[in-house]
Amino acid sequence: MRNPRPQGYFITFEGIDTCGKSTQIKLLYNYLRKNNIETICIRDPGTTPISESIRTILLDDNNSTMSSWTELLLYEAARAQMVHEVIRPALAAGTIVLCDRFYDSTTAYQGYGRGLDLKLVKQANAIGSVHLDPDVTFFIDLDPHVAADRKQKLGDRADRLEAEGLAFQEKVRHGFCEIQTNDPDRVHRINGHQSIEEIQQDIRDIVRKCKIVD
Ligand code: ADP
Repeated sequence: MRNPRPQGYFITFEGIDTCGKSTQIKLLYNYLRKNNIETICIRDPGTTPISESIRTILLDDNNSTMSSWTELLLYEAARAQMVHEVIRPALAAGTIVLCDRFYDSTTAYQGYGRGLDLKLVKQANAIGSVHLDPDVTFFIDLDPHVAADRKQKLGDRADRLEAEGLAFQEKVRHGFCEIQTNDPDRVHRINGHQSIEEIQQDIRDIVRKCKIVD
């Protein structure tokens, strides 16, 4: 375990949009609950009222003049509130926290995608997470072309970051791959091109190895 704690376990899910994060979070949540393990699902940015308000600003495609540094700091502000108000208390109470995105997304999107200085992004991440690291991270790796097809099929309107196009998504995917290479003990790369059931199986295998569930 990366952050040995008497209680709680912090698990994050990462990857480009429509890679399957929320699908897998729901399935893992049901599995853990079936095993009588207290679990909550949250999302970053968001979860608390303050963080959800910041999320609305971040994803609003009318905010086209937002600088990349403003974007970075808003993500960190939303995260700091969520860590303070929800994650730390949940972990202290022994709860498993399943989080849709965390600071690796900031590294991938604002660092590798936007091209901000990675050293400064790392420092900002330390502030936004208030030095809380995930115990385990699942990076669901999907080709951006496949993700774009899924998005089209869903008929969803793209938000400000999703509208950045394939070249941007490629940079972000590369960023996630680099993050995994640099921190292989924490970050597990899962092949997102498999079926929903196969991906869930891979995730549960790792969760069992971590002894969260027998
Ligand atoms: P995310 O939360 O990463 O944006 P979702 O879990 O919402 O992604 O999935 C996006 C879409 O892709 C949904 O329509 C979902 O049913 C579909 N999907 C998820 N996982 C798979 C998979 N392994 N194979 C095919 N379609 C998938």
